[in-house]
Amino acid sequence: MVFSALPTDPPWLADTCCGDPAPRGSPWLFARGGINRRGILTCAAAAPLAAWSTGARAQPYAPLIEDLVVQQVPGAPIYYVLGHAGVPSKANEGHTSNAGFVVTDGGVVVFDTLGTPSLGNALLQKIMGITDKPVRHVVLSHYHADHIYGLQAFRDETKASILAQYKSLDYTAAGNIDDEAAGPRLEQRREALAPWVNADTRIVLPEVVFRVAAELRVGAHQFQLVYAGPAHSMSDLMMLILPERVLFAGDIVQNGRIPFMASAAVNTRNWLAGLHQVAAFEPRFIIPGHGKPSASAAEAIAFTDEYIRFVRAAMGDAVAQWVEFGDAYKAVDWARYRDIPAFSASNRGNAYRVFLELEAEALSAESGRK
Ligand SMILES: [Zn+2]
Ligand SMILES: [Zn+2]
Repeated sequence: MVFSALPTDPPWLADTCCGDPAPRGSPWLFARGGINRRGILTCAAAAPLAAWSTGARAQPYAPLIEDLVVQQVPGAPIYYVLGHAGVPSKANEGHTSNAGFVVTDGGVVVFDTLGTPSLGNALLQKIMGITDKPVRHVVLSHYHADHIYGLQAFRDETKASILAQYKSLDYTAAGNIDDEAAGPRLEQRREALAPWVNADTRIVLPEVVFRVAAELRVGAHQFQLVYAGPAHSMSDLMMLILPERVLFAGDIVQNGRIPFMASAAVNTRNWLAGLHQVAAFEPRFIIPGHGKPSASAAEAIAFTDEYIRFVRAAMGDAVAQWVEFGDAYKAVDWARYRDIPAFSASNRGNAYRVFLELEAEALSAESGRK
């Protein structure tokens, strides 16, 4: 794997993290110990944890009505839970995204933490029911509310280090262009997902970040973390687990619902490249950010790939012919997607974002010709 060059001492690190700088040449921009000379993060260091606030939580997690169902990848110590289709609501208790974990000899590696602290805590309880090994690392696919609001349970109840692509540190920054940005989204979710998201819910930022690609080794397992953004978000990453070749694809791969694309952070050209990368990994089993897992890469990426291409083709024609967005949207026959969950919540906003993206691409091509 090729590691990226690193910026030296980015100023924001001092504000957001409290450990040691990663050694020169390491893919990690920042880490709390445990990096060997080849730049591989091996384990969370037994460093002082005071700064990571592992104290008792203020109050119990609001109880869930529906129990989490843990499933296992056939023949592998890799487990996952699947969220409901559609957008987060009281009816689904905010449980719309997938998450999973790998039990290794050296401890547990978690991928994503679900959409409320109650769900994150439920996931942690399920892990503790399966193994007595500690949770070593929590890897986040990206910093969208439906994947990270469960993180505080792992922060408060475990000593795990929290890993993400470094753009996720922008999640709470002023001027964040992602419509899923933490501040306003947290207010909306406190209302939409009460009592599971409430006044005690807070955003927990990553402690260890990388830029392009990095590797983690825990027990006999290797975890290859690959940046695939900006595509669905600024900070998309995918995690390939070896030797099993199981891929947690995050929201690069979504099935069974209209993916969320209505954000200025979305780049559908890169997103299509990310889907191509999924196939290039040659995974034996893929767990998407939303929807059912699959043993076939072609099958796993088909829905997202076709949807993005469909919207790009429809909006691309409109941009080429100087048709206004409203007229263009009305002229498209959306029949094939109309009955898919989240269509009414996301489709128009998605189409508008793609329209703007293609308009910007056309304008920059135009000015390049001048
Ligand atoms: Zn997302
Ligand atoms: Zn998501």
